[in-house]
Amino acid sequence: MIEELQRLLERAKERVPFYKERLKGIEPSKIKTLSDLKYIPFTTKEDLRERSFEEFLAVPEEEIIRIHSTSGTTGKPVIMAYTKKDVEDWTKMMARSLALAGVTSKDRIQITPGYGLWTAGIGFQSGAEALGALVIPMGPGNTERQIEFMITMKTTVITGTASYGLFLAEEISRRGLREKIFLRRGIFGAEIWGEKRRRKIEELLGIESFDIYGMTEIYGPGIGIDCHVHEGIHYWSDYLIFEVIDPTSGEVLPPGEEGEIVITTLKKEAMPLIRFRTRDIGSLLPEPCSCGSPFPRISRIKGRTDDVITFKGVKILPSLFEEVISMVEGVDSEYEVHLYTESGMDRMLVKVEMKDGRDPKLVEMELEELFKRKAGVKANFELLPSGTLPRYEKKAKRIIDNREQ
Ligand SMILES: [Zn+2]
Repeated sequence: MIEELQRLLERAKERVPFYKERLKGIEPSKIKTLSDLKYIPFTTKEDLRERSFEEFLAVPEEEIIRIHSTSGTTGKPVIMAYTKKDVEDWTKMMARSLALAGVTSKDRIQITPGYGLWTAGIGFQSGAEALGALVIPMGPGNTERQIEFMITMKTTVITGTASYGLFLAEEISRRGLREKIFLRRGIFGAEIWGEKRRRKIEELLGIESFDIYGMTEIYGPGIGIDCHVHEGIHYWSDYLIFEVIDPTSGEVLPPGEEGEIVITTLKKEAMPLIRFRTRDIGSLLPEPCSCGSPFPRISRIKGRTDDVITFKGVKILPSLFEEVISMVEGVDSEYEVHLYTESGMDRMLVKVEMKDGRDPKLVEMELEELFKRKAGVKANFELLPSGTLPRYEKKAKRIIDNREQ
């Protein structure tokens, strides 16, 4: 792997205008172990946003066969280019991910993420076809049609965001269609989803679900997925180097410690990225997985560095809300966090949904005590009737910050 890394650094310094600058003074042959990676500067989303994609190209333009783009929800969209081999490598990784989730050539896989510039639709499709599965390329939205095809096509695998998975699951259950569907697996990604939501989708649809990882800058979805053990996400270390760093100091953290995930692409031809800061928060899991896979693991993603709430000086990850509601009986999977200022004081109100007949006052108290113990600050909880909070067909928006600055 070290030789591959050295070759990557040489190639980037030689051919990529951006890295010619950024890697000035770095001698690839002096990078002798993985721990020497720390001497190499990071590449950030801003670096990509502030420059044209041509400044990141490592191949002549005639070798590029496709581009994709980020959605640009958190800024200017970023264009990523692919060679033929990049697309093939991504397809291999996606096929490997689907296989780890138990998908075979006998499956019928319904694809609900978007096509076009977005990587998810075509990424799932290529991987599923490589496995020999039957693809139903629905694209996003139109729930009526999604359900109709799910029934007539006897779909066995559904892919999409966890938000849409929940949306479909609740819809199918509300209409009493559970007996008419043939789903056995759900593969969800592109957002943070906790254990409670996972169990709810699984119970309503009668499926096993898998958390798939990826981002447009690093090929797309399918660079990792959790296995049937469901204790973390395996990633494809023959293509990618993962590190975890302290997002403030940039220091590399040891396995087990939580921080920002940083990825280096070993084989990407068109736009290799070196120490790309993903803004995703997680940790490297040091122990081998009991499933027997030789591929290393990271934890499930706990949040994004942009989503960390600083409340009364305490940093709170979105996954903490998931964790707290998953520990209290009588609370459903969805939540919404409202931050506001009242008489000069910052306050936090967490709206959740009730599930069964427990005394709401008792449930609220339990949630508040548990949150205080875990976060070290106080939040108020409000229980709403089931189904009150908004459901999302794309990614959920859960944090509403109206605090005065
Ligand atoms: Zn495993």
